[in-house]
Formats: sequence, C-alpha cells, structure tokens
Amino acid sequence: NWEEILERVQTEHEMTYVSFDTWLKPLKVYSFENNTVSILVASSQQMYLKYINKKYLLPIKVAIAEVTGLDCNIEFILPEDADRMEADKLDSQKMSVNVDKANLNPRYTFDTFVVGKNNNFAHAASLAVAESPGEIYNPLFIYGGVGLGKTHLMHSIAHFILERNPDTKVLYVTSETFTNEVIENIRSGNNTAMSKFREKYRSIDVLLIDDIQFIIGKESTQEEFFHTFNDLHSSGKQIIISSDKPPKEMSTLEERLKSRFEWGLIADISSPDYETRMAILRKREELDGYHIDDDVIQYIATNIKSNIRELEGALNIVVAFGNLNKRKIDLESAKEALKNIISPDEKRVITPELIINTICEHFHISREDLTGSKRNSEIVFPRQIAMYLCREMTQTQFKEIGKIMGGKDHSTVIHGYDKIAYEVKNNENVKNTINILIKKINP
Ligand code: ADP
Ligand code: MG
Repeated sequence: NWEEILERVQTEHEMTYVSFDTWLKPLKVYSFENNTVSILVASSQQMYLKYINKKYLLPIKVAIAEVTGLDCNIEFILPEDADRMEADKLDSQKMSVNVDKANLNPRYTFDTFVVGKNNNFAHAASLAVAESPGEIYNPLFIYGGVGLGKTHLMHSIAHFILERNPDTKVLYVTSETFTNEVIENIRSGNNTAMSKFREKYRSIDVLLIDDIQFIIGKESTQEEFFHTFNDLHSSGKQIIISSDKPPKEMSTLEERLKSRFEWGLIADISSPDYETRMAILRKREELDGYHIDDDVIQYIATNIKSNIRELEGALNIVVAFGNLNKRKIDLESAKEALKNIISPDEKRVITPELIINTICEHFHISREDLTGSKRNSEIVFPRQIAMYLCREMTQTQFKEIGKIMGGKDHSTVIHGYDKIAYEVKNNENVKNTINILIKKINP
C-alpha cells in the first residue's frame, strides 16, 4: 500500500510535515512493469525531479522492500513522460490490432494494377492467395527487379483480404522494419519486449514481408524470421514474400530459409513490354483524371522500358512541366521536360566498373570481397562471373581484367572465364543467372 510506504519513509527519515507534503505526498505510482515501479512526479520541473531522485530514491526503495518484500527498480517520471508512454502504448496496441491500414498504400489495389504478359502469372497467383489465404500457395514468393510492381501486388492482396474480412489480422512489413524491430529488441535486452514482438508476429493471419533480400547476412534476423515463418506456416497462416531474385539465387541466404521459400509458389514479374507500358500510362491518366495526347504517351512508353516507377515518374514530370509553364502538353514540351531523363541516341556505355557494381549488388557482396582474395564459394563464383562478363561484354583483355579485379594474374582470369563459360553451357541455373545479370547490366 502506497500510503503506508510513504509514511514509513517519513518516520524513518523524521521528515517534517511541510517537507513530507511538498515532496512525498504528491508522488503517485504510475505503473509497475518488468519489476520497475514508475513513480509520477506531480510537477514538471526538472529540478524537482533531480532533488527527489537524489534524496528519496533509496529510502523509497527500502520502504517498498520492507512493506512488500519486493526488490524492485524505481524510476521517477514527469507528467510529459507519462503522456509519451501512454502514446507509445497506444501505438503499439494499434500495431497489433487487426487492420494495419496505415502500412498500406490505398492506391495499390488489384483495381489499379494493370495485367500484362510480364506479370500475369504473379497477378493470378496473388489473386488466388487473396481469395483463399493459407489454403493453396504458402508461402507465395514474388520476385522481380526494382519498380516492377511487387509492393503494389502485395498491398493489393492485403486490401482484398481486409475488404472481404476486416477481422483478419494482416500485417505488411518491409524486411527492414522487421530487422529493426529484432535489433531494437536485442539491444534493449528486454525479454518482455522480445516476447511481445514474437506474440505480435505469431498472432498474425496473413504476413506480408517485402524485400526479403535485405535480411541476408543479418543472422539474428534470419534466425527470428525462420521461427516466425515456421510458427505461422505450421498453423496454416498465409505468408507472402517479395524479393529481387528467386530463392535459389539468393546465394548467401541460409539454406533452411531458402528451401522454405520454395515450399509454396514462386512467381516472377519481369519488365513490361510496350503494350503493357502503354496500358499502365493510360491507367495513370484515367486515375488522375487528365488527358494526354497519344504521341506523348507513346514517346514515354518507347523510351522508358525497365522500371514502372520511372515510367510513371516521367508522366508526372511531363504533366507538372505543362502546368508550371502553362503550356499545352504536346510532344515538344514532353521532350523538353524529359530531356534529362531520356537522352536521345545516347547508348549506355558498358564498362568493367558497371559490371562489377551490378554483380556486387546482385550477390550482396562488397566490392572489396569481389576483388579480394577470399576463397569461399559465395565470393569465388561471383568473382569468376565478373571475369567472364567483363570479357564477354566489353573489349577488355584478360590481363587488364586481372588488374581491375584487384591484381589477379592473367591465368587466374582465364581460368575463371573458362569455368563460367563451361557452366553456362552445362548448367541451367548458372545460365539463368548470367542472363539475368546481362539484362541488369544492359537493360
Ligand atoms: P517494386 O515493389 O517491385 O519495386 P512497386 O510495386 O513499388 O515496385 O511499383 C512501382 C510503381 O509502379 C508503383 O507506383 C506502382 O503502382 C506502379 N506499378 C507497378 N506495376 C504496375 C502495374 N502492373 N499496373 C499499374 N501500376 C503499376
Ligand atoms: Mg517494393
């Protein structure tokens, strides 16, 4: 009993009534969690807090121990801290309740998604999963390059499920958010936080995790995700994962995760063809409610090929440029607006630099490792690919490639080249990887 505790402090320290009324009487117990008693200080003056901390923390701790037999931590908090804690609590409750609408872009629905040859399989698979979550394809693994609609499809699934059944617990997170939460929990060393985190993830009906490639190399995150995955999967909960490449090419991802990603259905999204690009631009126009001449749309669709985000971006620039200059949007003004983005006739120059950077990014390894001397297969394989592609895609000689690759001798480069050339002929997987890389280097 709090009064009793305070009185005990008063008698033990022979406090006068004035000081008791001033310092102790206004204190209120705010919360008792994780063996910590938070005591609310009535005034929001720092000086007040300091004084109480210095003078009464220990006496109160002792009195609590005497009265309740508990040895707990004491912290004094100001009214504004209490407000903040309240807000945090509300936030985290909101996080764990059913609908996490805040995480979803309202524009990313099936209605606004244009289906073309490049994505029809991924679209069909997504719709099927949205119609019967947890029942057919689990997990659904969607992969493809940047800006091709993976996130849009994932949000569409989430919206669809929530619309049909608002009580479903749907959670969309990027793998970065997931990683940050894991790290935060480990850092805080707080077991309650960790179990809350687990509880949150394991009580979900549909988990969508975007850009999973970013957990590669993060061991505790992979470990945590592995358990989350197993728990959800074994209780028939739907998991939807996106990545920039298929599981088998995520070379440095733990084997056990890789194999789980292959349990369900794998669907890819590739670059849209001309018709699909036109249809996407038309759809944007319709959604945003303006009309633009055919030749302008064609100009954009012809020149921006590999990324839908850029395609839409170009359209926005053209529209904004027209509005800003109070000019009619025609081919002329479109060309002017896009002159920094679309450079006529200028071809992409393919250099060993570009090849090396693309390979490092694709395999998630550092340039240092790629051009260094480590002998493990996760590094040697990309290194040999770099040698192979530098030879195949540029005019660079073996000797020169050796120099660029961190001073390897000529015979090492030839050996690497031959190795990959052989694999390309005899191994379907390697051939695919090489094709993907070539496309990335020279879209
Ligand atoms: P990713 O997650 O693959 O990088 P996003 O889903 O963020 O790509 O898509 C990039 C942009 O392109 C978004 O604005 C999205 O709405 C749009 N987009 C992508 N694919 C389509 C599509 N098939 N139809 C309409 N818009 C699309
Ligand atoms: Mg995305």
